[in-house]
Amino acid sequence: MMELAKKLSILADAAKYDASCASSGAARKDSRHGKGVGSTGGAGICHSYTPDGRCVSLLKVLMTNSCIYDCHYCINRRSSNVQRARFTPEEVVQLTLDFYKRNTIEGLFLSSGIIRSADHTMEMVIEVARLLREVHHFRGYIHLKTIPEASPALIEMAGKYADRISINIELPSEKSIAILAPEKNIARTQQAMGHIRAKIDENQAEKREEKKLGRRAKRDFATGQSTQMIIGADDSTDADVLLRAHTLYEGFKLRRVYYSAFSPIPEPSAILPLVAPPLVREHRLYQADWLLRFYGFGVEEIADANQPNLDLALDPKLAWALRNRGVFPVDINRGAREMLLRVPGLGVRNVERILAARRYTRLRLADLVQLRLSMKKIMPFIIAADHTPTLLDLDGASLRQRFLPPPEQMELQFDNPIPTAADVKSSISGEL
Ligand code: SF4
Repeated sequence: MMELAKKLSILADAAKYDASCASSGAARKDSRHGKGVGSTGGAGICHSYTPDGRCVSLLKVLMTNSCIYDCHYCINRRSSNVQRARFTPEEVVQLTLDFYKRNTIEGLFLSSGIIRSADHTMEMVIEVARLLREVHHFRGYIHLKTIPEASPALIEMAGKYADRISINIELPSEKSIAILAPEKNIARTQQAMGHIRAKIDENQAEKREEKKLGRRAKRDFATGQSTQMIIGADDSTDADVLLRAHTLYEGFKLRRVYYSAFSPIPEPSAILPLVAPPLVREHRLYQADWLLRFYGFGVEEIADANQPNLDLALDPKLAWALRNRGVFPVDINRGAREMLLRVPGLGVRNVERILAARRYTRLRLADLVQLRLSMKKIMPFIIAADHTPTLLDLDGASLRQRFLPPPEQMELQFDNPIPTAADVKSSISGEL
């Protein structure tokens, strides 16, 4: 029988392709056979951000990497020639508790390949959560990946034990799903998301009622759902991706859509692209996603049929501003909140600060410097008490040029597999 550590190494490695909880990429280092302390590989611990911005460590594993489906982009697909392993629910529980007690994790992210049937697989996943919550009274964070083909009653049960549940939409279009994941379909996935949303709404309404009555509401359903879309495995444009994401946010109140740049897998299917899309595409999609959710942009303003893909060299808000120079400059002392949010370099938090400060004073450039704004970015687009951009500034053909990274820096950015700290920070904070 395969030993637990070996299973953990296989099933943690197999889980790394799921970006629904973002994991940090680091070179493999190991101290098992010699000097030093600690190891970056094999233990399956990753980091994820909670809605309040806290970073939590999770044990991220699959129940099994065997699967009866044959999704072309997946290393665990039926036809893949990888070593297979399978945990029992008790083993996952044991590992979670061991890591938790040693203070190395704050929760569990559990997904699985599909074995025997969707219902059978969901039952195993739920059993882990049930044992943790009911037998061991585990109060840590649990994120369960659910299977759209499973029966609604089982998905509901998963939601009772988990803090977050997610179902991967995988690809933005029905056509791409039919080619790359023939056993799946978007309609069924959306149906399952609709069911989860109805349960979340129902639970929240009950909680509000309990609160009104002065009773302490008990948590008995997950508080949110999320999904993942793979980028670059098919020919979908950024407009297709963003339109799908927008539909999911609007229709199912998703907490997050995660964009995962397709990375070529060992022994890939012949219909997959040979090279990964530039990682910066994933980063631009995250930025565009924030514009949709927090800045009041519509999908067609960011990408449409005439311009279906995002400009990889500029962030999408700056690219929009350069295409719509006629609406600038915006007066920071008088402009409406909606217009301030459209100024490149002004994030949601800083717009709120400006709105609060201008009630008492007329803001000057020095006040903006104190907010630590990128003055180079915002100055061509704003009017302040002591600043008006020259028409030449806004109309000049060189304005775009001014914001482009120098050629050598661009090369670095495009080739670097790991986004810079600033990239990650702006993806997370959404300050654009
Ligand atoms: S169902 Fe999931 S685990 Fe199975 S092949 Fe498809 S993506 Fe991979």
